[in-house]
Order: sequence, then C-alpha cells, then structure tokens
Amino acid sequence: MKPINFVVVGFGGMGSYHARGLIGENQFVTTYGTYDSDEKRQAAAKEEGFKVYESFEAVLADDNVEAILVATPNDSHKQLVIDALRAGKHVVCEKPVMMSVADFDEVVNVAEEAGKVFMTHQNRRWDSDFLIIRDLYKSEEIGSLFQIESRVHGANGIPGDWRHLKAQGGGMLLDWGVHLLDQLLFMVDSPIKSVSADLSFVLGDDADDGFMSYIIFENGVRAHIEVGTSNFIKLPRWYVKGYQGTGVINDWDLSGELVLQRETDVKHEPTPIQAGQGLTKTMAPPSEEMTECRELPSVTAEFDSFYDNFYQVVREGAEAVVKNPEVRDCLVLIETIFKAAETGETIKMN
Ligand code: NAD
Repeated sequence: MKPINFVVVGFGGMGSYHARGLIGENQFVTTYGTYDSDEKRQAAAKEEGFKVYESFEAVLADDNVEAILVATPNDSHKQLVIDALRAGKHVVCEKPVMMSVADFDEVVNVAEEAGKVFMTHQNRRWDSDFLIIRDLYKSEEIGSLFQIESRVHGANGIPGDWRHLKAQGGGMLLDWGVHLLDQLLFMVDSPIKSVSADLSFVLGDDADDGFMSYIIFENGVRAHIEVGTSNFIKLPRWYVKGYQGTGVINDWDLSGELVLQRETDVKHEPTPIQAGQGLTKTMAPPSEEMTECRELPSVTAEFDSFYDNFYQVVREGAEAVVKNPEVRDCLVLIETIFKAAETGETIKMN
C-alpha cells in the first residue's frame, strides 16, 4: 500500500486542519508538503515541520506530488484546480467547490480530459447528527419523514475577511449552506419540485450573512434549511416530523429525543389547557398513555471515510462517495436559492 502524496494548497484554517489531521493522520494519504501564497502562512507551516513550496508552479512541477488539496478562498478554487489537473495531479477541493454550475462543468471536463480524480470535500456527510437523521429517513422509525428542518445558528457574525465579500465567494449560502443542502440531497431520494428563499444582510455586507429556504420535493417531503449568524438563542440543529412521531437533535453534542405516537386502541382525549387568554385542546400536550419517548439511535456511516474512499477511487477505481453529479445538483440548488431570493418568487424546478 503506497499512500498518496498530497500537497495542501492554502495553509489557513481548513488547509492546516487537513495537513495535520485529515490527511496527516490517515494511513492512505500523506501531507507531502504545503503551499500558501502568504509568506506568514508559509512560515507557520515551516514551523510545524511541513515541507513548504515557494510557488504553486514548483508544486505542480514535482513528480513526487500525486494529489493537491485546495483550501483557499472560494473564488480562487477554479484556476488552481484546473492548473493542477492539467499538470497531471488528482485534486480534492474544499466546498463550495466552484462559484457556479458553469465553472463546475468546465472543471469536470478538464478532469475527464486529464483522466484524473476530482473530488469535493463534502465532509459533513459523515457528521453524526446528519447520519442519525438520514437513518430515521431510511428506517422510518418515526414513520416516513415529511418535514425536515435543518438549521445552524451562531451569534458571531461572519468570521474572517474574504467571507464578507461576494466577489470572493463569501456569504453563508456558499459557506454553511452548501453543507446543509448537500446533506439534504444526500438523504432525500426524490427530485425537487419547488424552491423559495430569503437571504439576510444584517451585517450590511454585500454577501449574505444567513438565509432561509423552503424546498418541496416531488415525493412530498418539505425541507426548511436555515443558516443564521446573529442568533443569540439557537433553535435545534434538526427538527423532523414523521407520520408516527417527531425527532429533535439539539446540537452537535447529539442531545435530543424521539417522541412517538403509541399504538393503542383506547383513545385518550387531551385535557384542555389555559393558553394565554383562552383554552385549547388542540395545543395541549399529548397524554402520556398516547406517547413513547426514545433515545436517538446511534449510527455510523455505512460508507468509507473521505480519504479512505479517495484512496480506493485513485488506486482501485472504486466509486466515489461524493460524486460529481451530486455536487453539481447541489450547485444547481444554490443557484436556484439565489434566484428565488432575488426575485421573491417560488421557483418550480421541472
Ligand atoms: P482561510 O482564510 O483561513 O485560509 C485560506 C488560505 O489560503 C490563507 O492562508 C491564504 O493566504 C491562502 N491563499 C489565498 N489565495 C491563495 C492562492 N491563490 N494560493 C495559495 N494560497 C492562497 O480560509 P479557510 O477558512 O481555511 O477556508 C478555505 C477553504 O476551505 C474555503 O473554500 C472554505 O469554504 C473551506 N472550508 C471548508 C470547511 C469544511 O468543513 N469543509 C471548513 C472551513 C473552510
């Protein structure tokens, strides 16, 4: 087994995480070197003991380098990926892989011409919270899911510099949005019927600092996908409804529960409660006899980890876990969300 020699391009927050951990600690791939256009980041990589290239050309000219990991600001992905593929390197690119569907198609063509592997790092397909919801979707433990709400809420605004700028591919739809939408499409096995959306600009940047989108699938599933960066009180990470129950995952700590409707022949009428200035039976809690609480299932991915899979794809021609047509579908959805937000219209997909 010969590990794949990677050069990490962009030794910033995410690139250094790949260099040290994701690539650095995986038996199938090695951090052979790093390159960053900023001298301070080159010095930081040197200090951590990594081999540092002084130019991207030098990386591409080195025959020992088999693959490149691109972890630079979003607007720079396209040219770096194309140059690397044309130089005969395999490429893993960070999300959002490209800033448009047209750019993505161009790059996939270059990869095909070069005969090299080109994969997008959609790492949140391996997140435990997502795998639990995907398992509920498949197992129908709370009945078939018809409503999926997936949110991430923070209160720190947009971090860093380039993420504030639309021209550099900033904004939360391209940042967290691409993760949540990729997860949704990797779970719901149905074409999309319609999309409506709204972006938020609380910080006053030209790039969105959050968004809400409502996506209806042809199989009847409704999804609310939301990212917020000025939420001092968070809503749960996941809230899902099935025909036999409701599930909630509060956070990445995986706290949460399932509440199911108990199968019983005896009907227990709810007791009316005082609600504000009135009484309600409709909104009263369900009687204990009618419901059952369960712990969230514990789930692991049934597919290989990202870099294990990348190795199998490169060395043995295995199928990629993150497939280019899926990544393209996600970019189409992102472009549709931008359009729905801009026009204020619900966009029909077919
Ligand atoms: P960052 O600003 O921390 O780091 C980017 C680095 O790229 C900087 O050190 C910068 O000097 C360098 N750089 C800029 N242009 C370059 C070029 N042309 N050639 C070489 N180096 C260049 O940004 P980040 O947070 O690390 O994000 C980088 C990428 O990783 C983005 O695409 C982002 O969306 C992605 N990302 C993914 C995840 C994930 O979970 N998959 C998490 C964070 C970031």
